[in-house]
Amino acid sequence: MEFDSKDVLDSSSQANSERVKVLVLGSGPAGMAAALYAARAELNPVVITGMDMGGQAATTFSIENYPGFPDGVGGQQLGELFQKQAERFGARFEFDVVTSVDLSKRPFKVAAYNKEFLAETLIITTGASPNHLNVPGETEYTGHGVSYCATCDGWFFKEKRLVVVGGGDSALEEALFLTRYASSVTIIHRRTALRAGAILQNRVRENPKVDFIWDTVVTRVNGNGVVKAVSLENVKTGETSELPVDGVFIFVGHTPNTSLFKGQLELEERGYIVTDALMRTSVPGVFAGGEASDPHFRQVVTSAGMGAAAAIQATHFLEENYQ
Ligand code: NAP
Repeated sequence: MEFDSKDVLDSSSQANSERVKVLVLGSGPAGMAAALYAARAELNPVVITGMDMGGQAATTFSIENYPGFPDGVGGQQLGELFQKQAERFGARFEFDVVTSVDLSKRPFKVAAYNKEFLAETLIITTGASPNHLNVPGETEYTGHGVSYCATCDGWFFKEKRLVVVGGGDSALEEALFLTRYASSVTIIHRRTALRAGAILQNRVRENPKVDFIWDTVVTRVNGNGVVKAVSLENVKTGETSELPVDGVFIFVGHTPNTSLFKGQLELEERGYIVTDALMRTSVPGVFAGGEASDPHFRQVVTSAGMGAAAAIQATHFLEENYQ
């Protein structure tokens, strides 16, 4: 994409600095859709991708509920299609990570490792990251039997005994995926009622490789260089036990990636960015969408919708403030 030299700031700013009309932070479905809509509005958006190109969706083996793909679509494949479509209309992707933001005045200053941006509008779609159990052994054995991504690591556990922790859609979906490789998958849930949707529950219950341990939490991950067992505690009876396993997959919810914006944008108590129905944050010109601001839906389709809406609003904002 051509870049107009008048947009490059000079001595008043960092040498490696670029002024953009729309800067999108994050490359999950929300960021991709925002880039597409801003590009089609001829605003030449720049997307700072973050570490995980495609966001959490890209780590999903098969997405079966994104409209338009009756046979499902690979998460990574969908991310690549999103990117290609946005690039076709002029979006540019920078493989970089944001290190600081200054939202106190416009243009907003956004520093990444390679460069600084001055953005007339900002669309925050930084997503969310998987929660940890915070039990002894979890960090020590991450990458040595403890994982937060079945699509990424399931292959390493052929004919192994696995446990999956959690009772939501992620836990059940990933447990099902892991049955491709594992000899057995035991879902450990702290209650007896699953949070996951009915279709997934039925599929899991019908799978002969999956069993459940109810009302139970993992209190420790044990091993000897690699995971060998988990210590368990029944939350109703207090009874403790040890279960021999080869791998532990943890899906116990997410935390929004919004720490960069603390003190600059209104966040609710869990850290989600507060937006109104028009994707506006507490700072005019800053919009947000996807899991960084959405504790409710967290679907690929809803995130993409929010990203598109944020870009439409950014377009209006530019029309009202920069002409
Ligand atoms: P979630 O719905 O928040 O479920 C988290 C699960 O982890 C819950 O069962 C929770 O138990 C359990 N948990 C939380 N903290 C725990 C702890 N410290 N120890 C043990 N267990 C703990 O998260 P999610 O499954 O990642 O789903 C997030 C969102 O994405 C949801 O809206 C979901 O519908 C959506 N999603 C959808 C699909 C799909 O449509 N196919 C796939 C994946 C995700 P409690 O139940 O007791 O709270």
